[in-house]
This record gives sequence, structure tokens and C-alpha cells, in this order.
Amino acid sequence: MEITTDILILGGGLAAYAAAVELRDSGRETLVVAKAPGASALNSGAWDIADSPIRGPRDEWVEWPSWREGLKEILRRQESHPYSVLARGSSDGDFADFVAAKVRAAAEALPLEMAEGDPLALVTDFGTVKPSAWVQASMRDADLRRWQRAKVLVLGVPGFPNFNARFLRHSLLEQQERQGKSHLDFAGSLELEIPELQGRVSLKPVELAQRLDREETFVAAGQAIVRYLEGKVYTHLLLPPVMGIENTPAILEALRRITGLAAAETLSGPMSVPGWRLQAAMERFFQERGIECLEGEAVGFDAEGRRIKSLYVHQGDQRHKVRAKAVILATGKYVGGGVERRGRWKEPIFNLPLFLQGKALRAQTLPQVSRPGVAERQPFLGAGAAINPMGQPLDADGQVVYDNLFAAGGLLADFNPAQERCAAGVSIVSASVAARHAAAAC
Ligand SMILES: Cc1cc2nc3c(=O)[nH]c(=O)nc-3n(C[C@H](O)[C@H](O)[C@H](O)COP(=O)(O)OP(=O)(O)OC[C@H]3O[C@@H](n4cnc5c(N)ncnc54)[C@H](O)[C@@H]3O)c2cc1C
Repeated sequence: MEITTDILILGGGLAAYAAAVELRDSGRETLVVAKAPGASALNSGAWDIADSPIRGPRDEWVEWPSWREGLKEILRRQESHPYSVLARGSSDGDFADFVAAKVRAAAEALPLEMAEGDPLALVTDFGTVKPSAWVQASMRDADLRRWQRAKVLVLGVPGFPNFNARFLRHSLLEQQERQGKSHLDFAGSLELEIPELQGRVSLKPVELAQRLDREETFVAAGQAIVRYLEGKVYTHLLLPPVMGIENTPAILEALRRITGLAAAETLSGPMSVPGWRLQAAMERFFQERGIECLEGEAVGFDAEGRRIKSLYVHQGDQRHKVRAKAVILATGKYVGGGVERRGRWKEPIFNLPLFLQGKALRAQTLPQVSRPGVAERQPFLGAGAAINPMGQPLDADGQVVYDNLFAAGGLLADFNPAQERCAAGVSIVSASVAARHAAAAC
């Protein structure tokens, strides 16, 4: 089948979504092609905007800088970072204000409530504390910077190994000892039986979330907590990040109302229900806006000189030819499939070269671009497509490859979405810039 559109967005993650938000009033017809959910569907629940490259992993959270200070350091120290490249082409006044405006627009258009803070110190389901700037509203009250002598009850579910309430309680108490600030008065833990799941082992996050989505289950859970709370003086409930997929606001609201406590989910590790909520909300945005989405894999393209003419998309056993005036490549990094190393490093659809630390990667082996320590920053996670300030990908000599091709998101070179704590910010901002120039190129 042959399909025609103005702008073709390749990818279905946060960058693709942010591009669609930017394009919503452009009058350009937009088609989204994605083969599957990518890294965005594993997101912890937080949107990180920028973190200072000189902040040490052991710095205490009471001292954490704001994302604006983190951005300033990135712009000062990392000249090939996507923020630095985009800032060089920005004519929108202060670049930090531009970043803030684009992230806010993406958060506000999402049919999922997000909450802002600068910075937030969020508890993870592993008991560590992570800086961020935006978070799903159900996690807002898990910000340690807002706790003052909180009396926290950590709630686990028997048979759900991903969330160990006792371990988390100990971690919180350790945090309290290390910090100068009295955010915590005391912490306790409770394993709460969910009647229909009694006796089960190895419960999966999504399974638990779907069960909790039912009103009779979450109301019964709230009542059981109230019985436990009798005669106790807790102020906060810290919950596993599985409080429903569809009904999260109603569940949190019911738990707060029934127990009278502040209640919040922690951030989530992989197999993330909050990531799934984000993915579902982005897909709902496409649907509600009437943006056509095709589930398929882009495998090749036609070009005339420096212009892409069409893309070839496989959808099951069907083959489509999609003619587009401009293309936004938002295919992510290793998880999404936008970056590959099979013998050599490349971007698989347009065969773009990959860059690391400002230089094109050729036949480097993985050990040559890795470090031995597990906790160290891994250079290979920064490999990606290099762009100019308009978001156009560059060849190995630094020249624009195609005039109507733009790239955004995790795919970009010289930022490491897994370890740098700016993944959502870079994805949203680079996609907004790419979309703006793609619209102008049609
Ligand atoms: C475990 C985990 C936790 C994270 N936690 C956080 C966090 O706390 N804070 C934060 O800011 N960020 C976090 N992130 C990162 C962040 O959510 C993503 O890196 C970011 O959203 C990148 O989005 P993207 O749209 O560029 O890529 P992706 O979300 O990976 O999307 C890429 C899309 O491209 C599609 N695609 C690829 N190739 C093709 C093809 N040939 N044809 C069609 N479609 C194709 C994929 O199917 C997918 O839909 C986390 C990531 C992971 C993996």
C-alpha cells in the first residue's frame, strides 16, 4: 500500500510524542510509525531534565542543585552534548526557559497528571534516592525534600518480590542518619495481603496493578490499612509503584481519604508500571488528536539527492511505501532499536554514522568504549547520531546527510540516557526542535 503524509515520525516513545505535541497546531499532516514500545515504556515515572556532570554519586540530596544549574554545567563542559548543540542554534531567549517551556508543554498535553519540582529527591523502589524535576503525580509525595519529621509506613504485598518493604524502611532510616536534615521521624513496614492474591508467589508488577485497578480491591486495601493504623501515628504511606494502570489517581485519592495520610508510590525499576502508564497516555494523546499511528518497522528508504522521498515499512506480511515531505527519526538507542553494533556501529534505517565524544565511531570494539566498573559511566551508552542545531543528522565529515531528515531523543550522540539523568529533557527538547524544523521543511 502507498501512504502519503507531510511529516513521518519514526518511533513511538517520548521523543515521538514530544514531536507530535510541537506539531499539533502546525497544520501538517503527521503519521507515526513504531514497531513496538521502546525505552520510554520502562521509564521509572520521573522525567529528568538535567543533572550536574560534576555532582558526585555520593553527594547528599539536601545539597543537590536544581536542573537549571545542572544545565548550566552541561552547557559549560560538554560541547557535543545535544543540549549544547541545540543551545547554539536557539533564538528563543534564555535556553533554560526554552527547555522549561517545552517540558511543561509536553507534561500538560499528556493525559496523565505530572507534577513538577526543582529538584525532587525521589525514593526508588530499591530504597535509593534519585534527583529529578518532573514525576507522575502519584509519586509527588515520595519527595524527601518535602518531608519534615515524617512518620512513614512502607507498604509491601506478600508474594511481590520487586518491592521489599522492610528493606526500604531500613534504607530510609539509613538515609536519615546520613543527612543533616530531619526529614524522617520514624519508619515502619507492613505486608498487606490482597485477598484474591493470597498464597501467590512471584507476582508480576502489571498483574498486581491490574488487580488494584478494581475499586473493590483498592477500597478493601484502604480499609485493611485503616485497621492496622488504629492507635498508630503515621503521617505518610509509601507504596509500591503498582497502584493501577487506569485508575491511579482514584486509587491514591481513595487511600488518602480513607487513611487520612499522605500517600505516594516510589519510582519504579524496569518492568515498570509507571512506564506502561506513560506509554498508554502517549498513545491516548495520538488517538485523541486523530494522529494516525501505524504499528510497523521502517526498513529502508528512497532518496533523491539530499532529500528523502519515501520510507518502506513492514507491517506483518504487508509492505507499505510511505511518501513524506519530512521525516523525524525518534527510534531511541539500544532498547528502542535506533542504535546498533553488529560488526560496526550504525543507525539501521538510514545507515547514519554513530558518534561518541564528538568523533565518528568506526570499528571500535565494545571493551574500547566501556569501563570496567559496573557503577562507572559507560561511554558506549552515549553512542548515537550527531546533529546540527536544527536537529539534522550529520555524516562522518560533519555534513548534513538529508535536508528533510531530523533526529531526536535517545538516539542522539553524546548523552547517556541511562546514567546522565537528562533523558526525558533531551528527548522532549530535541524532538520539539526537530519538529519545528521538519514543519518548515515541508
Ligand atoms: C529502565 C529505564 C528507566 C528509565 N528511567 C528514566 C527516568 O527515571 N527518567 C528519565 O528522564 N528517563 C528515564 N528513562 C529513559 C527515557 O524514558 C528514554 O530514554 C527516553 O524516553 C527516550 O525516548 P525515545 O523516544 O528517544 O526512545 P524510545 O522510547 O526507546 O522509543 C523508540 C521508538 O522507536 C521505535 N523504533 C525503533 N526502530 C524502529 C524502526 N525501524 N521502525 C519503526 N519504529 C522503530 C521503537 O519501537 C520505539 O517505539 C529510562 C529508560 C529505561 C530503559
